[in-house]
Amino acid sequence: MFSLARTTLTASGAVMRPVLATAMAAPARSLNLHEYQSKELMQKAGLYIQQFGVAETPEEAEKVAANMVFDEGSEFVIKAMVHAGGRGKGVFTNGFKGGVHLAKTPEEVRELGLNMLGHSLVTKQTPAEGVHVGKIMVAEALDIDEEKYFAILMDREYNGPVLIASPQGGMDIEAVAEETPDAIMYEPVNINTGLTDEQLQRVVKFLKFKTETHEESAKEQIAKLYDMFLDVDATQIEINPLGTLETGRVLCFDAKVNFDPNAEFRQKDVFTMHDTSEDDPREVEAAKYDLNYIGMDGNIGALSTAPIALEGATPANFLDVGGGATEEQVEAALRIISSDTQVKAILVNIFGGIMRCSTIAKGLTSALESLNLDIPLVVRLEGTEVEEGNRILKESGFAITTATDLEDAAKKAVATL
Ligand code: ADP
Ligand code: MG
Repeated sequence: MFSLARTTLTASGAVMRPVLATAMAAPARSLNLHEYQSKELMQKAGLYIQQFGVAETPEEAEKVAANMVFDEGSEFVIKAMVHAGGRGKGVFTNGFKGGVHLAKTPEEVRELGLNMLGHSLVTKQTPAEGVHVGKIMVAEALDIDEEKYFAILMDREYNGPVLIASPQGGMDIEAVAEETPDAIMYEPVNINTGLTDEQLQRVVKFLKFKTETHEESAKEQIAKLYDMFLDVDATQIEINPLGTLETGRVLCFDAKVNFDPNAEFRQKDVFTMHDTSEDDPREVEAAKYDLNYIGMDGNIGALSTAPIALEGATPANFLDVGGGATEEQVEAALRIISSDTQVKAILVNIFGGIMRCSTIAKGLTSALESLNLDIPLVVRLEGTEVEEGNRILKESGFAITTATDLEDAAKKAVATL
């Protein structure tokens, strides 16, 4: 069964990198957007979003605030733009507390910008050293009466979208999931017939709104979120909080949207929004060549067409070259893997199907010509034109150890350490 922990884990994006198994399940890169980008998409989908702007300097933030038109007495909310959640309770490495703040005047907005921009924010979902904040969002703050939780998740077990709702939203949803799991409802939707009125009704009843006006407003927002979920090929839309106003309106105050990487071809506009500054630079470089790079903690670099388990050695990374790699891709792959100083040996394990072993061998030797590789390289080729591939490697003059199978390759790689 699914659990909320999974949503929050997915939201953090933190599980993707170190786990080889995850790489198998999701071979393509996951896409993270900043909250302001998700909110742009939500606006397009017809959801009501508070006025907002983005700034990269304190002065710019002040200007964004000064240019906003709303009722006298309204406040601004300033949020650090990092892909991780839990910002409200986060702490900056300069000691400044909180990645989400309220301000009354544009001057105050500038001062907050000064404390946030250029510093790193540490939250429950970031690495311990935090994430650099290069942008802040300045938005209209509204007086939230109650905070609810709402999400839509593409779920494998149900083979479709599941609505997840809790009347106890806000910044402690992880605690709710752990301590009072009954306060969370799961409503699977049949993707073919779509979301029904009965389902909407069940969800808003579970959310325990104060009035019927709130319920109607929530239904409208949820229906629009569901349509958007399908339109943008999302795998997750998480709204926490889904906040209520005393007037009876229900609005999305925070948004975390994840996308199906396999839909990139038809969601070009969404995918080009991706801010790569938080990504592993090697992952970004690999993506340029359509390669999937996964950084890990070990010392053997693996370039492989299939995930591999190395006996007695921990992989430092894993580079999936897919089924139809070109010579140029193989060269880029080797360059990226060896750029990691932790890598003490490289193991290449390729099953040449569409991609012939001779192509791999040529890619490897031409990469070696420009790379100056000073660590051992163990290569196991299998499949189409394997003899030709091994002959090219042997005659290249480079110190390449060839292996007959994966076990042999792993042993030889470990022996070089
Ligand atoms: P995070 O989930 O990363 O901590 P949120 O965007 O959810 O960040 O903000 C944290 C809290 O700040 C929310 O739970 C809400 O109470 C408050 N908040 C967020 N946006 C607004 C807003 N526009 N107006 C008023 N309060 C807000
Ligand atoms: Mg939130």
